[in-house]
Amino acid sequence: MDATLRGVVAVDGPSGTGKSTTARGLAMRLDARYLDTGAMYRAATLAVLRSGLSLDLAATTAEGHDDVVAVVLGARLELSTDPAEPRVRLDGEDVGAEIRGTAVTGAVSAVSALTAVRAHLVSEQRRIVAEALADGTGIVVEGRDIGTVVVPDAGLKIFLTASALVRAGRRDAENTAAGRVGAPDTQADLARRDTLDSSRAASPLRPAEDAVEVDTSTLDIDGVLDRLQGLAEDRDMIVGFADAGVGSHKG
Ligand code: C5P
Repeated sequence: MDATLRGVVAVDGPSGTGKSTTARGLAMRLDARYLDTGAMYRAATLAVLRSGLSLDLAATTAEGHDDVVAVVLGARLELSTDPAEPRVRLDGEDVGAEIRGTAVTGAVSAVSALTAVRAHLVSEQRRIVAEALADGTGIVVEGRDIGTVVVPDAGLKIFLTASALVRAGRRDAENTAAGRVGAPDTQADLARRDTLDSSRAASPLRPAEDAVEVDTSTLDIDGVLDRLQGLAEDRDMIVGFADAGVGSHKG
């Protein structure tokens, strides 16, 4: 039997630290579900952009705020938690590519700073996690507030970091691979989003007190996954034998 995850691994950290590659790779390796909460905030932001409502008004007037929140609450978001095919649908349409574009990336921090938006998406995220656990499946959840707010009792909490230069280089490579031309200066954009995400009043980006910080600047993906698998094994979250020999039998 291959190594299989039980329980929840929370993977938080700023953009460009390798969260998605790591969280998805860990879920694949340990036969678990995978939830990308950033994709939910991005799809909600796309719904707001498509509505034509002003984000400036949402930040400055009660009516503008309520209108934007109503759009998010009315949007039908569907996420698959299969790490081999993590699809995102907005009102039935596959928006996986569009939510990574510059328009959404530029607006997402403003939408995700709204407390009512967070309350709605956090309750959806908890429902998805509970569904996976009820099936007896482990789940790897990535975001900014997973260990602090969404699943504070997660069995393992990881906070990924990487140097500013490495993070910007990764985002550049992603944009080039996806054919996104005219993406904003990535180092400046990452710094802007970090500041907004870390300074907002509602669930700011910060490591949970019991999170393990992993610096991915000099590790390749297998190195990061080996480290996380070892941490999960230490916490008795793995059943079965690891086929790569990095784990021990604890089940
Ligand atoms: O991870 P990703 O870059 O796709 O996240 C996009 C944005 O969504 C972040 O910059 C942040 O504003 C927001 N977000 C959040 N809480 C999460 C996940 C993402 O506020 N749990």
